[in-house]
Amino acid sequence: MDLIRRSQYGLPATSAASPIAKTRGTKVHYLGSAYPSRRHDLCDDYVRAVRASHLANTQENYSDIAYNALVCEHGTVYEGRGPNRRTGANGTKALNDTHYAVCALLGTPGGGLSSPPDAQLHGLRDAIEWLRAEGEAGDEILGHRDGHPTSCPGDALYDWVRNGAPRPGAVPPPAKPVVDLSRLISAATVDPPKSGTPVSYAGVRAVEAALLAEGLLAQSLVDGHFGTSTIRAYAAWQRRLGYSGAAADGIPGRTSLTRLGTAHGFTVID
Ligand SMILES: [Zn+2]
Ligand SMILES: [Zn+2]
Repeated sequence: MDLIRRSQYGLPATSAASPIAKTRGTKVHYLGSAYPSRRHDLCDDYVRAVRASHLANTQENYSDIAYNALVCEHGTVYEGRGPNRRTGANGTKALNDTHYAVCALLGTPGGGLSSPPDAQLHGLRDAIEWLRAEGEAGDEILGHRDGHPTSCPGDALYDWVRNGAPRPGAVPPPAKPVVDLSRLISAATVDPPKSGTPVSYAGVRAVEAALLAEGLLAQSLVDGHFGTSTIRAYAAWQRRLGYSGAAADGIPGRTSLTRLGTAHGFTVID
């Protein structure tokens, strides 16, 4: 997380806002007006300007910038009121008591920046996790519009919130590895143990990992080479399945390999 503390960008080190022990979670906001994209060295100027406009708002009578944190398009988190301070941004005192407020420096559609870049989504997530870690924020992640009549935080951010505010590029579960039986047999019959040399068939690793999980092969021997140790381990697997003699010679066959793959998450092809 790239976090800029209040004192690092020209705000009084401590917020004058009321203390709060914890919240049920965090609400996400945007600026609600057009916002031109800008260079990162200008982002903190903008946050200070937001604070100045809040302090000048005699109707709301803010003691400080209304948000607990703000996040620029480059993913930097600016400390607003910070953790353990009641926000002034959620609409009513009751709503301010139950959730923190994090604001994206993001504008309305129709000019400027209105769709959150990945870096900003990471930054928002960083800010939410920071408020959980340091401010006892609960698990809820909502939008300003939840429970209050406003379009904030805009449709793009609200969709993200409704999705659970995932980190972008979050890696989907890894695809199931495929092991080609004929290439595996070829590796087992021609691969002598040759530590440090290139692996002839990458599928060997999935088989070795499965043999490791079965307690038949040591971690140090999971090296991608179907050498004598792996052959010995595979023979033990075959014996475990009830094979003996030439049927337990350590060279993989379709049935034994399929059973190993079923147990340890790889698919066997020819
Ligand atoms: Zn809002
Ligand atoms: Zn920035």
